[in-house]
Amino acid sequence: MTTVTVDADPTRSPAVVAGVEQVRRLRTAVPGPVSLRLRERRAAAVAAGVGMVLPAFVERAGGAVLVDVDGNSLVDLGAGIAVVNAGHAHPRVVAAVTEQAEAFLHTCFMVTPYEGYVAVAERLGGLVPVDGPTRTVLLSSGAEAVENAVKIARAATGRDAVAVFDHAYHGRTNLTMAMTAKAMPYKRGFGPFAGEVYRAPMSYPFRDPAGLTGEEAAERAVRSLVTQVGAEELACLVIEPIQGEGGFVEPAPGFLPALAAWCRDHGVLLVADEIQTGFARTGDVFALDHEGVRADLVTVAKGLADGMPLAGVVGRAEVMDAVHAGGLGGTYGGNPVACAAALASADVMTEEDLPARAREIEAVLRPALEAAREHAPGIGDVRGRGAMLAVELVRPGTLEPDAAEAARVARTCHEAGVVVLTCGTYGNVIRLLPPLTIDPALLADGTAVLVEALTGRAGSAA
Ligand SMILES: *Cc1c(COP(=O)(O)O)cnc(C)c1O
Repeated sequence: MTTVTVDADPTRSPAVVAGVEQVRRLRTAVPGPVSLRLRERRAAAVAAGVGMVLPAFVERAGGAVLVDVDGNSLVDLGAGIAVVNAGHAHPRVVAAVTEQAEAFLHTCFMVTPYEGYVAVAERLGGLVPVDGPTRTVLLSSGAEAVENAVKIARAATGRDAVAVFDHAYHGRTNLTMAMTAKAMPYKRGFGPFAGEVYRAPMSYPFRDPAGLTGEEAAERAVRSLVTQVGAEELACLVIEPIQGEGGFVEPAPGFLPALAAWCRDHGVLLVADEIQTGFARTGDVFALDHEGVRADLVTVAKGLADGMPLAGVVGRAEVMDAVHAGGLGGTYGGNPVACAAALASADVMTEEDLPARAREIEAVLRPALEAAREHAPGIGDVRGRGAMLAVELVRPGTLEPDAAEAARVARTCHEAGVVVLTCGTYGNVIRLLPPLTIDPALLADGTAVLVEALTGRAGSAA
């Protein structure tokens, strides 16, 4: 197969990050022969239940490029699901990880502490949309953070019930499965689930009756919760400010402030699950900042440490400290290497102004997606904020989800060397989560491939 090299400006040599040229370059089909052999080994050794978006095995990554074992350079518009916001192998993060690894890998913070954990807690306190003094517990995964937020809310309020929303995704452990909305693939066959979880209707402007304001949608949600359980039973209301796996559903303006006000009036703790939206992804440091909403507790993971497994719950001091000593923790929570990565990531976010980079990405990507609508009548909605954008695909002229079309668009991008992800309750949403540091020429190239895939429906149907 011939080599295809794409650079928006061929007179300029491509940027290089962590030794990886920031270009798309295909040397074989994707996946190539070496990946296909590894896929066979994978199938014979790895549990079938572990999903796979694109079976190109990665050998190296830098910036927004993944280099696979066949020598193909792929444009990464997924960032490992909104994790490497600073880009793959950001030199600052790698240096911090290396330095800490040489010092020590683990002590268990609950046995003998170290400064990195404390420094991450201090740093998070200054970043999260929570008023007043904060306290933090660090953990290893997002689901674990959500579980702990519920534990803390129950301990602080003496109440049991947890409110969540349609299309929510909060993880795959038993409690978080109960909080997650979608049965396939997350829940089916895995019950019984944890109790005392109540689900309210989300504000979903594309699918809500026309003209339903954020305030009206909040009223609808509150009515549903009051009917099901009553405010006085609710420990917390857990919400993703922009939903992730559920379809990048961005509630109508006013929805989150109205819910926050209702929570405050009824002693219900507001838990913002910012695991996917956090750390500059949406153009603000946190998505709640957009409308100036304040939470009692915030869950963080994904973008927190740019690829090292680290998660946390950050909240108002008096809420967090309602838990008895020894009630929170875990062997690996706040691992020192992960903490070093988080501190370097926070430095990069500030010094390279990643919120501004996210807004710049939106300024390129959104108009291109909007323009594609003219030639792709299946695009029902273009939505999201910052570098968290999505296209919802439907049968033209209807609200009927078109998951097959989303799968076709994703496959077309993958074959062309552009990694995109799908999501949504109906599996009909293409979601874009590029590293926030993505090289502009590479973003332009990835965008062009995506637009071509979106508008190429007639060709593929023939
Ligand atoms: C990914 C995600 C989780 C779960 O995080 P894991 O690290 O996969 O356990 C929870 N909530 C949201 C909003 C997420 O995007």
